[in-house]
Amino acid sequence: MVATSTVPSAVEITAIADAIIAAERELTAAEARSMLDIAPGTDEAAALFAGAQRIRTHFLGTTVHACSILNAKAGGCSENCSYCSQASGSANVDYDKYRWMEDDDIVSAAESAAQNGAGALGLVAAWKGVKEGRQLDMICDSVSKLIESGAVRADVNLGILETQNVADRLKGAGVKVYGHNLETARSFFDETCSSHSFEERMRTIEFVKNSGMKLCSGGIIGMGENKDQRIEFAEQLRFIEPHMVPVNFLNPLEGTGFEDKSPVDCDEALVTLATFRFFLPSTSIMVAGGKEVTFGDRLSEVFTTGINAVMVGNYLTTLGTTPEWWFEQAQAHGLSIQSEGATDCGSDCGCG
Ligand code: SF4
Repeated sequence: MVATSTVPSAVEITAIADAIIAAERELTAAEARSMLDIAPGTDEAAALFAGAQRIRTHFLGTTVHACSILNAKAGGCSENCSYCSQASGSANVDYDKYRWMEDDDIVSAAESAAQNGAGALGLVAAWKGVKEGRQLDMICDSVSKLIESGAVRADVNLGILETQNVADRLKGAGVKVYGHNLETARSFFDETCSSHSFEERMRTIEFVKNSGMKLCSGGIIGMGENKDQRIEFAEQLRFIEPHMVPVNFLNPLEGTGFEDKSPVDCDEALVTLATFRFFLPSTSIMVAGGKEVTFGDRLSEVFTTGINAVMVGNYLTTLGTTPEWWFEQAQAHGLSIQSEGATDCGSDCGCG
């Protein structure tokens, strides 16, 4: 980590947190960039984490929301996202591949998610995007049955939307939250994927917002973007105003385009999460995929960064940490996890 003279002092960081809580001002992009250089174990780091937790408590309380995702259609994706084991160019990645799941299996997964303490289940599909016609009809049917089951709220993450009508149909079927990540800064996006564009993602987000569905949108840290681009990414998130920002950390799986990259340093990842809390003070922030690889046996420290949501259960193609572990660790940090598995847990998350 590169220390620079622009790093704010502990006193300055505390004053900034006070001002954000008092709604006197926002964190500037320049301040956020300098915070990313805060070194671990310093007074500045202590002030950053303390401020991030105070900001979270002030705007979002002490309840941590739990979300689950389900790969409702796995493998065989046409897209070439370099971070993804389901991409067209990925090789030697061992996971089940299947078409859109049967409705009964989706409902069973929803009941399992509720037992794991999740209030919402995000149905994720490995394809470029959902198309009008029979495919959209099938998905709307599945969503309706999931809602009828009463197990959890039905969220979806179905990729690029080509028309406003698709978003409106999903909203009409009962989808509350559409998950669609920006993934990274606009200036770095082409390094991660060439089969679709950042602009297609932005247009999808516009359709989602126009439909009235809530937006869950974040991305992945550690794909090779520099720190300036991490703040550019945060600025773009601030611009699109999602209800939930899932922050994933690259898990460089063998066979993917990014298999040779290294996981983000644990301390760097913690500082990044806390800086995002300062930058997006009242937006829900979820720590999502890749956290086990990035944080290792320091995983519980994510609760010191001001996050207010976690992804529980397994990810799309890799295993995650048990819900029970998360509940215990949240309690140890003076937080509670929304665990009743209700039809509306009150969180705004969709999926990672
Ligand atoms: S991230 Fe989504 S669109 Fe990209 S390759 Fe993976 S499944 Fe396909």
